[in-house]
Amino acid sequence: MIPFQYVKPGKPQAAIDTVAKDQTAMFIAGGTNLLDLMKRGVMNPEKLVDINKLPLRKIEKENGNTRIGALALNSAVAEDKLILEKHPLLAQALNAGASAQLRNMATVGGNIMQRVRCSYFYDLATPCNKREPGSGCSALQGYNRMHAIFGHSDKCIAVNPSDMNIALVALDATVLVSGPKGDRKIPFAEFHRLPGDTPHIDTNLQKGELITAVDISENPYQKYVHYLKVRDRNSYAFALVSVAAALDLAGGTIKSARLAMGGVAHKPWRLTEAEQFLAGKPATEASFRQAAEIAMRGAKAFEHNQFKLKLGPNVLVQALKNAAGAV
Ligand SMILES: Cc1cc2nc3c(=O)[nH]c(=O)nc-3n(C[C@H](O)[C@H](O)[C@H](O)COP(=O)(O)OP(=O)(O)OC[C@H]3O[C@@H](n4cnc5c(N)ncnc54)[C@H](O)[C@@H]3O)c2cc1C
Ligand code: SF4
Repeated sequence: MIPFQYVKPGKPQAAIDTVAKDQTAMFIAGGTNLLDLMKRGVMNPEKLVDINKLPLRKIEKENGNTRIGALALNSAVAEDKLILEKHPLLAQALNAGASAQLRNMATVGGNIMQRVRCSYFYDLATPCNKREPGSGCSALQGYNRMHAIFGHSDKCIAVNPSDMNIALVALDATVLVSGPKGDRKIPFAEFHRLPGDTPHIDTNLQKGELITAVDISENPYQKYVHYLKVRDRNSYAFALVSVAAALDLAGGTIKSARLAMGGVAHKPWRLTEAEQFLAGKPATEASFRQAAEIAMRGAKAFEHNQFKLKLGPNVLVQALKNAAGAV
């Protein structure tokens, strides 16, 4: 066993100071991802800063927004009355993730920050630029069935594994952060990074910065929403492709749409051009097919994930049909 120190501060500032000052310190919340990575030797923090005593679990209305504390459990968010009423797309995405047991441990902050599920990242015997910068990417020529078709680089082709993140980017959420230099707000679309030349850096969070909450502003996407996830098994499986679809409909015409895709890129992949196309169009399969064609522009697959080029548009069309049909 590799030794590490463990502290459990009661105040956010103490947690932030500890992680900011110590290069080897990390926050731990539910532990469902970090402990796995530590057991396999992929991550080796020398100090764990347990944040579970911090007062960050509330789900409440705040200045017209819905504010979800970073320590709110995935299951608590998915079952919360305010979330079910105002942001059912988020509840659907959360319920599509992991298993009931994991959702009872996993927190919102930890879910946002979870690391990629590329099998080479977990396998210390193989090169991986994300685990060891400069060592190479085994997935490029390897078994890349789960990997990206958008936004990849020759340094990394892994995908962001979170379901929740796909709904949050579609809903234009904002991540609230406290750090050594104070508080700041990061639009969800800017929180995660594409791999580029620095695939070891997943997000734009700085060392010592603590996610304190996520805000979702008031929006018209309560009724016509659907999160559709295609995976190898019904539970305990990450998305091959998933789609978060939200429509504002009036008399069969789309006033506006919000769309994002999962399982396809290193970050939650927002489909802005397809959204713009759908505005003002009738909510028909023909419109959805055209939107899907637009959404897939620029996609580039690898040897084992060619199927995502067909699966992607089909999941998008079905998610939109389901959303439009929802009562
Ligand atoms: C078998 C299995 C199947 C799974 N299937 C799915 C799935 O289908 N879909 C899906 O979306 N997820 C899935 N997951 C992942 C699961 O959702 C994540 O492990 C979980 O959300 C992580 O949350 P946590 O609180 O346990 O994070 P932790 O493991 O505690 O932390 C994860 C990371 O987040 C950082 N962190 C935690 N909180 C904060 C904070 N407030 N501020 C800054 N940094 C923070 C930690 O330092 C660490 O780097 C699965 C996991 C397992 C083990
Ligand atoms: S895809 Fe990314 S995580 Fe997977 S082996 Fe390549 S560099 Fe590592």
